[in-house]
Amino acid sequence: MQPALLTLFASGAAASAAALGVLPLVGRERVPQAWIGWSNALAGGMMFGTAFALGAVGGAPAWPAAAGAIVGILFIVWTHAVTGTEDLDLNRLDETGPEYGYRVALIQSLHAGSEGVAIGAAMAVGLPFGLFTATTMAVHNIPEVTVLAAVQRSRRMSLAECALLGVATNVPQVFVAVATYAVVSAAPPMLPWALGLATGMLANLVLVDLLPESYRQAGHTSIALVASAALTVVALLMGWIV
Ligand SMILES: [Zn+2]
Repeated sequence: MQPALLTLFASGAAASAAALGVLPLVGRERVPQAWIGWSNALAGGMMFGTAFALGAVGGAPAWPAAAGAIVGILFIVWTHAVTGTEDLDLNRLDETGPEYGYRVALIQSLHAGSEGVAIGAAMAVGLPFGLFTATTMAVHNIPEVTVLAAVQRSRRMSLAECALLGVATNVPQVFVAVATYAVVSAAPPMLPWALGLATGMLANLVLVDLLPESYRQAGHTSIALVASAALTVVALLMGWIV
């Protein structure tokens, strides 16, 4: 199969897996606050592990990847500033303001777009690393959508609507993955830049979007443990598989 088509299918499967994030909400109106914190820590740890993996495969010279990472960090700062979401907590279950649900969905879509860069760049490195990254992103989409669904459930959305929204907010992952793969395949010198870009974006998103509120919801120690365990598993699997 053509690698571009594989990128489309792999990122499409990752976005579709997001629907499974509603499963912890089946049969209950709300999940405990700590579950929300742990879900974000799990997703954040996997993103950190992926950021590490993307940085590790960058190769020499290191400066394009480093420059790309700086651009990635600045890009996230800029998107947060433009959308007015610099200090937006993504997991306030009791927030009932009319704008809040839309802003959370918007920031989740931007977040997913950044992860599309990771999948596309990884596919350009090679098939095993591309599929490894797409699978990691697929699994991490599940706890991220658990958080999104918990927020939207508290705003009276049905489970089916939450699952649909979860997939819809991850559709940018598919478009951006295919576009990134197409660009770096056509211009291979762009690959270290794209790897660095994804590394910077993923690391910044974990620190700004996922972890801050999680510490308050589940306690510092358990968040650190869950995030560190997820990071370690991804890093070890990367060494084993790739
Ligand atoms: Zn994520």
